[in-house]
Amino acid sequence: MTQKIVIASNNAGKLREIGQILAPLGIEAHPQGAFGVPECPEPHVTFVENCLAKARHASAHTGLPALADDSGICVDALNGAPGVYSARYAGEPKSDQRNNEKLIEALKGNPNRKAHYYCVMVYVRYADDPQPILCEGEWHGEIIDTPRGDGGFGYDPYFLLPQFGKTGAELSADDKNGISHRGIALRALVERLKANGAAS
Ligand code: IMP
Repeated sequence: MTQKIVIASNNAGKLREIGQILAPLGIEAHPQGAFGVPECPEPHVTFVENCLAKARHASAHTGLPALADDSGICVDALNGAPGVYSARYAGEPKSDQRNNEKLIEALKGNPNRKAHYYCVMVYVRYADDPQPILCEGEWHGEIIDTPRGDGGFGYDPYFLLPQFGKTGAELSADDKNGISHRGIALRALVERLKANGAAS
């Protein structure tokens, strides 16, 4: 039987990546935009608090189980910034190009290029679920000054995986899902859902 859930995101890149992983498991994932769910405030300073707020919000508006993802890039030399502010690092309106320009400027002349993507996934069966499922993933790499590749989204063209000699934007969608923060978190979540009988 197909399980219908709502994804608490309107980000096309994330929706595509999440949908690809859940489809073979009999989980039909619908974006919250399809139900007219308004954008959820994200006032918290940690990924996990914002993620939980988004999952509860989407479930409350739809009456469906909800899956939220909160993610961002944390740069060592910037004390973990942009972190929870990754999507709006360069202010409103959100712009990947301006975010990347700001990041490269902030790291100008700095030899420490270490960075990692972080992702937390939260699944709630109902809005006031007392026992949400939480899973995390990290993906480590380095920030480069010149963009490479046209896949992925966000900071991917500037995020180099030294062991592959490629940026996140030079990987195929499947290869990225196989190693990324979101892929790791999502596969862990799938195992938890299977154990709970929520997915086949
Ligand atoms: P969120 O929608 O609040 O989770 O914001 C996540 C932001 O972090 C995105 O808008 C991107 O700027 C960045 N981000 C998260 N995951 C990725 C990724 O896989 N590739 C590139 N950028 C990412």
